[in-house]
Amino acid sequence: MIHKIIVMLFAGIFMHTASPQTYEEDMFPTSQGPLKITFIGHGTLMFTWNGLVIHVDPVSREGDYSKLPKANLVLITHEHGDHLDPAALSKIVTPETEIVLTQLCYKTYPHGHILHNGEEIHLLGIPIRAVPAYNIIHHRPGGEPFHPKGNGNGYVVRFGNKTVYIAGDTENIPEMRKLRGIDIAFLPMNLPYTMTPEMVAEAARTFRPTVLYPYHYGHTNPQELVKLLQNEKDIEVRIRKMQ
Ligand code: ZN
Ligand code: ZN
Repeated sequence: MIHKIIVMLFAGIFMHTASPQTYEEDMFPTSQGPLKITFIGHGTLMFTWNGLVIHVDPVSREGDYSKLPKANLVLITHEHGDHLDPAALSKIVTPETEIVLTQLCYKTYPHGHILHNGEEIHLLGIPIRAVPAYNIIHHRPGGEPFHPKGNGNGYVVRFGNKTVYIAGDTENIPEMRKLRGIDIAFLPMNLPYTMTPEMVAEAARTFRPTVLYPYHYGHTNPQELVKLLQNEKDIEVRIRKMQ
């Protein structure tokens, strides 16, 4: 009996300490109700809008996907392990889930719609455009860019009257200058794989998002970006836990 009580006590303590995951969230009004952004970590995000759940680059190392809501739509930017994780996908993808991914992702995870740079698709009332994401300067020791042009996608996604740009793993490439009307942007800021704060600031000055989130920033101090853009009053830099 005492044994049983002790076991129950331990179980109680365990259940109590196994607290649910908590993530930062931001809300934005759109013409079709609020857009909620959940900051899962690194390059991983979740959007909730118009009764839909949209996961971006869901990976197990950033979240326990057995406890996160099932996906109506999944966007995958590229095939690297911090962006494509079949184990995480298996926990949130249902037979009805729409998936958008690259050709290289499809080799590992053969489901959904392959989108190449420049292509567009409408799913569940959401227009999604794939835009380039690649390195110009930062290379592997052998000379190959960490992200060769054409392999990865950024996504420009429209939620009602709000346009969100999720850049994926990229540098400040010339194609960013053509972006228009970006309300919310996610730009990666870690070395050696993506951008320095200076490169992120330069990118932001070209297409001037209303709200800019540095993400995928690893050990980079995000306050450096805040300083670099302090005189750009029309660009609000918001820092969330996206190391
Ligand atoms: Zn990558
Ligand atoms: Zn990455």
